[in-house]
Amino acid sequence: MDRRKYDELVSTFFEWQQPAITQIFSELLAAAAAESAMIPSAIMSQNYETARANPEIHNLPGNLKDARDVIFPYFWGTDSWNNPLHLENVRGPANNASLIGMLACLLKNPNLCTDRYSQRSNELEVKAITTLANLIFYHTDDPWGVFTIGGTISNLYGAKIGLERVLPGAMRTGLGAERIVGISSQASHYSNQTVAGWLGIGTENLIEIPTDENLSMRMDLLSEQLDALYQTRTKVAYICCTFGTTDGFGFDDIEAVHHLLHRKAAEYDMVVPQLHVDAAVGWALSMLSDYDVGENGLSFDTEILGLVSSIQSKNQGLRFADSVTIDFHKMGRGHYPASAFIVNRREDLKYLARTVSDTPYFSDANASRDPALFTLECSRPALGPYSVIASLNGIGLTGWQMLLARSLELAHRLKTKLAQLEYCKVLNAGTPGASVNWWVFPKGRNAEEIYQQLVRNELTLEQRHRYLPEIRRLYDKRAKMMDSAIDARLGFTTSFGYCPHGIDIPAWKAVFFNPKTTEAMVDRIVESIEEL
Ligand SMILES: *Cc1c(COP(=O)(O)O)cnc(C)c1O
Repeated sequence: MDRRKYDELVSTFFEWQQPAITQIFSELLAAAAAESAMIPSAIMSQNYETARANPEIHNLPGNLKDARDVIFPYFWGTDSWNNPLHLENVRGPANNASLIGMLACLLKNPNLCTDRYSQRSNELEVKAITTLANLIFYHTDDPWGVFTIGGTISNLYGAKIGLERVLPGAMRTGLGAERIVGISSQASHYSNQTVAGWLGIGTENLIEIPTDENLSMRMDLLSEQLDALYQTRTKVAYICCTFGTTDGFGFDDIEAVHHLLHRKAAEYDMVVPQLHVDAAVGWALSMLSDYDVGENGLSFDTEILGLVSSIQSKNQGLRFADSVTIDFHKMGRGHYPASAFIVNRREDLKYLARTVSDTPYFSDANASRDPALFTLECSRPALGPYSVIASLNGIGLTGWQMLLARSLELAHRLKTKLAQLEYCKVLNAGTPGASVNWWVFPKGRNAEEIYQQLVRNELTLEQRHRYLPEIRRLYDKRAKMMDSAIDARLGFTTSFGYCPHGIDIPAWKAVFFNPKTTEAMVDRIVESIEEL
């Protein structure tokens, strides 16, 4: 081998080339910053046509600029969602403290499977998990958890614990022919379907309980369902409550579910199902738990204080969860992937251990050392812990409270303004959160009346087929007419979660995760609707 060429290669790609790396990084940073001068729709268009036809690999060794050059068009053609007019979904711009944390992590590239491969980064995961657990469960004694690549996987962990609870040894022996069910609400995230399918429970055995109009699982129907299942001795592995539904920000009553599960399981002598809470979106509100509403040190408006109080009482329900899913990459404004699965009691991890003989392992202090013994993943990035600890401490609890209150403020403003238009109907008026779901009808219609008729099941099929598509048509019309420089980009859902009489209700949607969105932008949404 030509040793000189080899050494050059190694030096370029495996030594810390500080000036070369920082130069390219500042170029990328400058390009990212330039995006803020552009409107969201001006992002470079895609070229799927040749992505498959022209795979690419250079022939000769190059340098770091070659690496930059080949990725640059894709980098430039990707919207970071920093623009304050992005309100489509539960995605906001990632914060800079998270960027610092994640870059630091990439420089060391730890693998959290065992502490031999990650040293103090493994310790950081313990710290990040415990910090989040204390926010969620409110100073709990013995929590534990791991970071995963997303809310779907975190939900999978919760369901898997439930499966092992009702079917001990399923990890080795499989499910057999027995019917096992999981339960979530009709407004829950579709990842619950993914989980039931992938765990072998089967999507048909995920029972979705209808919600009330505030997107909260109906306790009367849950109770009936549990009776029906337990009368036939059907095993219920888990129930996944939602804390902040993805479209409408609805909350299940976790405390009530906890008591009901225990009562019904005792009544029928069945194993109590795992009570998992999918707080992927709503968990961040737990940072408002300690806000002193009386003192109001951050001078929140009266309406916002009311919302904060309501959130504080919902937060209390989290203490009744056996396990939770937290997506830091949503309302935590962290980078992907930063999702955490957390159990309230560390001993519950024994259900995930590979074999029964491994279980004593989890009762001793070494549980921290080798998460790979119970995680789904083997190689596991430490990006989540770095993002979380950097963000929580960079921004600080008070900073988070300001960011959260701002989201509440903007959502509240939009709800209030829309409520004044008789051809609009705010669908999630009763959920204290960062999102707004609503109807827009042609002027002249009375949206509230139509809604009440729908809820009372008084609309004929013909009326339903006439009215509901109008909501989408007007959404499309606004999208065509909108001026991308001033008009916010909104989302649309074909079913916001509440389904009276099984009817899916479509809705316009705005999510206030972007800290730079202004009152004027919210007011302009309403104006643009009036102009339709
Ligand atoms: C986004 C979301 C999920 C899925 O999380 P990913 O991180 O996208 O896998 C699960 N549940 C809820 C409520 C969500 O909003």
